[in-house]
Amino acid sequence: MHPADEIPFRIAFGAFWALNLALRLCFRIKAKATDSSFGKHEQREKLLSRVFAFAFIFMLVYIFSTWIDFAHIAFPVWARWILGGGILVAHRVLLSWSHYALGRNWSGVLQIHREHELVTSGPYRYVRHPMYSASFLSGVGVFFLSANWLVAAVYMIVVTFMYLNRVSLEEEMMIERFGNSYQEYMKKTGRLLPRLRS
Ligand code: SAH
Repeated sequence: MHPADEIPFRIAFGAFWALNLALRLCFRIKAKATDSSFGKHEQREKLLSRVFAFAFIFMLVYIFSTWIDFAHIAFPVWARWILGGGILVAHRVLLSWSHYALGRNWSGVLQIHREHELVTSGPYRYVRHPMYSASFLSGVGVFFLSANWLVAAVYMIVVTFMYLNRVSLEEEMMIERFGNSYQEYMKKTGRLLPRLRS
């Protein structure tokens, strides 16, 4: 591996995450503007955002230093662009589609708004947690684009940790708010992947 050959990949990687962060910030500002919500499990949510921040710092180490280059995998250049880049674009499309469907019901932490509505359209017609599906998908994209097993492993561990710590609480919260409607919705959808049989 020649460090100069890595520069375009690291620029693409950095640009991709900068775009993701900027869009998340926009959605957050929008959600705050209409906020009248009840936060849930706030201590745990604080811990999760710290864990998430750690993953980002780790990605900055990958982008700006050579410290973890020992974990480089010699993937062909085409595989890095087509598989890595393609999967990250697919992740962005799924995430944007989910944001669009959730609209004002989205929040960065577990929350129920006073006027919260149960969304069952867009990707939510098929899966209950398309944003988490998109996060797992992005782990595969990170693996191919970075061609660095350590970056991908840290990212996947963080995504899995967040998912396991959140998904059941989130569903409990939705059942508490929407009762039978959410339970019926659960029967028709999968958590991360669409149900093959209804
Ligand atoms: N877990 C979902 C949403 C993440 S955003 C996903 O992966 O796509 C988190 C917030 O979305 C939660 O606080 C909850 O209030 C809200 N939410 C989750 N599923 C919802 C649904 N089907 N309809 C409305 N709001 C939902």
